Amino acid sequence: MLDQLGREINYLRISVTDRCNLRCRYCMPPEGISLKEHRDILSFEEIEKVVRIGAELGITKIRLTGGEPLIRRNLADLVYAISRIDGIDDVAITTNGILFPGLAAELKEAGLKRVNISLDTLQKDRYHYITRGGDITAAFNALETALAEGLEPVKVNTVLINGFNDDEILDFCRLAFERPLHIRFIEFMPVGEIKYWHCKSIIKNSDVFDIISKHYVLKPGKISRGSGPAKYFVLDGGRGSVGFISPMSNHFCSECNRLRLTADGKLRACLYGGKERDLKEALRNNLPDEEIRRIFVETVLSKPERHTMGDKPWGTRDRKMYQIGG
Ligand code: SAM
Ligand code: SF4
Repeated sequence: MLDQLGREINYLRISVTDRCNLRCRYCMPPEGISLKEHRDILSFEEIEKVVRIGAELGITKIRLTGGEPLIRRNLADLVYAISRIDGIDDVAITTNGILFPGLAAELKEAGLKRVNISLDTLQKDRYHYITRGGDITAAFNALETALAEGLEPVKVNTVLINGFNDDEILDFCRLAFERPLHIRFIEFMPVGEIKYWHCKSIIKNSDVFDIISKHYVLKPGKISRGSGPAKYFVLDGGRGSVGFISPMSNHFCSECNRLRLTADGKLRACLYGGKERDLKEALRNNLPDEEIRRIFVETVLSKPERHTMGDKPWGTRDRKMYQIGG
């Protein structure tokens, strides 16, 4: 599928739930969220149908996310079903990792190829603070489990926030030097709990690069699968790499290849902008596959040239990250 600007759209990110077992301060309010009823969330059969039709149109890569995808019961069944769909060659998950050690083996057996684990700090107390109660040992275990299961490349999502974890940049580099992990520094975006966000909280990735370059020789690199919007650099002499995802300072919209499916069945062309189209209604009304195809094509053709996150006034949009799928 090509959009109006000639971008090839082959990647679908699916939020399988808007619920989470953590409450990261920048993502969710402390009291949690007004949860969707189970019937409002797409069933595995419905997601499978969307992926099948998407694959017929050219989708090849799927990422399951949320909320926290691993709290959706029997997630391995969904991984199994979608990884067997003709045309799908990559099924990955983004997770906070808390439940991962107990599920990794069955997910891998079901067809999971890769995992991204979110970790914003390497310090126990800070982790407990930012996640409102999370145990960092579980997140570390998740990294080691992913490596042990060979779910490589194992990527770590690290959102840098000025005044919170900006003093840990080199600690993360040391981790990537010592372990075969790919640390991705993500610029803090004005989505989610906007009360926590301030434009002064953003650390530009060019500044992060400069800090790292004073201590490590960085060589531009590519990792074997799923490079996406990150620009990767190998740490000379080390085992892993660092990557930079810079939606705020240097948006990568011209290379964007993705669509997003919300937990409640809306198809979106952009994390931050664009109209949602309702697939759930089409599925529940048993409309023919042709109608689902039409919604896909319409969404692709409506993909905006770029997101508007960097434009003032700053502010959150209609939907939160945990609803759309981060
Ligand atoms: N619960 C899973 C997790 O934490 O990995 C998946 C969903 S979470 C919304 C996906 C990713 O979005 C996480 O790496 C999280 O840190 C990131 N994220 C959430 N809010 C963000 C923000 N305001 N700016 C940048 N990244 C954000
Ligand atoms: Fe949950 Fe992920 Fe949001 Fe943290 S970032 S509250 S783990 S959905």
